[in-house]
Amino acid sequence: MAVDQEQLQQIVAAVVAKLQAEEKTSKTTLGIFEDMNDAVAAAKEAQKVMQKMPMDFREKIVTNIRKKSHEHAEILAKLAVEETGMGNVGDKILKHHLLAERTPGTEDITTTAWSGDRGLTLIEMGPFGVIGAITPCTNPSETILCNSIGMIAGGNTVVFCPHPAAIKTSQYAIKLVNEASIEAGGPENIAVSVTKPTMEASKIMMAHKDIPLIAATGGPGVVTTVLSSGKRGIGAGAGNPPVLVDDTADIAKAAKDIINGCTFDNNLPCIAEKEVVALDSIADELMYHMIEEGCYVASKEEQEKLAATVLTPKGLNRKCVGRDAKTLLSMIGVTAPEQIRCIIFEGEKEHPLISEELMMPILGIVRAKNIDDAIEKAVWLEHGNRHSAHMHSKNVENLTRFGKAIDTAIFVKNAPSYAALGFGGEGFCTFTIASRTGEGLTSASTFTKRKRCVMSDSLCVR
Ligand code: NAD
Repeated sequence: MAVDQEQLQQIVAAVVAKLQAEEKTSKTTLGIFEDMNDAVAAAKEAQKVMQKMPMDFREKIVTNIRKKSHEHAEILAKLAVEETGMGNVGDKILKHHLLAERTPGTEDITTTAWSGDRGLTLIEMGPFGVIGAITPCTNPSETILCNSIGMIAGGNTVVFCPHPAAIKTSQYAIKLVNEASIEAGGPENIAVSVTKPTMEASKIMMAHKDIPLIAATGGPGVVTTVLSSGKRGIGAGAGNPPVLVDDTADIAKAAKDIINGCTFDNNLPCIAEKEVVALDSIADELMYHMIEEGCYVASKEEQEKLAATVLTPKGLNRKCVGRDAKTLLSMIGVTAPEQIRCIIFEGEKEHPLISEELMMPILGIVRAKNIDDAIEKAVWLEHGNRHSAHMHSKNVENLTRFGKAIDTAIFVKNAPSYAALGFGGEGFCTFTIASRTGEGLTSASTFTKRKRCVMSDSLCVR
């Protein structure tokens, strides 16, 4: 049979279209796209499916994400340490188990009702749609898995812009979220990202008409950018949490709790103890117990060397962030004994290793004359971030005064900082603490919008 020119053109066009479609599909692997616009479009399609799902079904997906976070905890922990060079595997494993167990799911989506003579009114929590989420390199997979549980429980899908220093780990976590959905019978692309997360890709995401809400977890730069985007933003920004110790505290326990909190995952958590303000009368005793807990006291000369190594004119030396105390000491030529976990020293609050958020186990101790002086110094050190602060005391009045004055999203009393995440304390877990915008510890309900649903003059059956 002879094929004329027109038929030939039609056949060629059909083959080209098929190849293009196949090429596009082959580029899509469990939520990772070449192009940000394609990623958003896929998340939008997935959200249409999600919107129609019963809550029970969402919960099945969430249950699968929890299961996968447990099963892959070790792999993700090792991958993150290998890729970023930050933190330690043991603590990162614990963080994955913690998020799997204590991040709220659909139970966080609740309804408020009023019924009376004029009928029934409900406030229901509905999804925003597709949420944009910018995530840090300090807790890369933890933030992605935790955000996914909350956002998906709220009926949303999510476009992630992970930190470029943690691409492999972040993409691994995003793929797990999609596997969790597919295995539950749900859609692919409930969490998406791009192969190369760049600032340009972030800009496209932030400006995209189909992204109504952006959750930014990171330092001050990203939070300010998101809050200037013209979109609704959830700003989970930097902290510099002070821990105050007064003369009524159990000093040995305070030292133990502070060093445990400060050294957890090599001080990467934004909530971790970053400096101590201690009443003069107990400061020596506190430092004695800290040394018992495995602290190295840095001399003036060593402090100067540390400051020169850790703080560069361009900001924090990324090669120091999340490193352990022995590695930091080796960088200034000190060979520390095996048991050393943390570097301590005494200094004024203005000391650069005290006033800056370092994210490494270097803990300065500032002396205070009395509780008024201590509160004033601790509030100054928090720099108005309104993020986290901690205190060791048995004096309820002092605890109350400091809690009010510091006005932070998190205030832990008589425990290591990680008690705030439900690790040795009551309450749920999150890795996105909306310090700047005031939502505090985020959960599924944070990622929903309120809808008033009114039935006039009916359905009140009392
Ligand atoms: P970072 O600010 O360097 O990066 C965070 C994310 O923002 C990354 O994905 C990065 O690529 C992106 N980013 C940075 N600047 C941007 C810009 N101008 N526009 C768009 N995207 C931008 O932070 P990090 O080193 O990954 O994480 C550590 C910081 O994050 C610390 O300050 C810590 O306190 C804070 N943090 C806060 C929370 C919280 O819940 N409040 C949780 C974890 C970390």
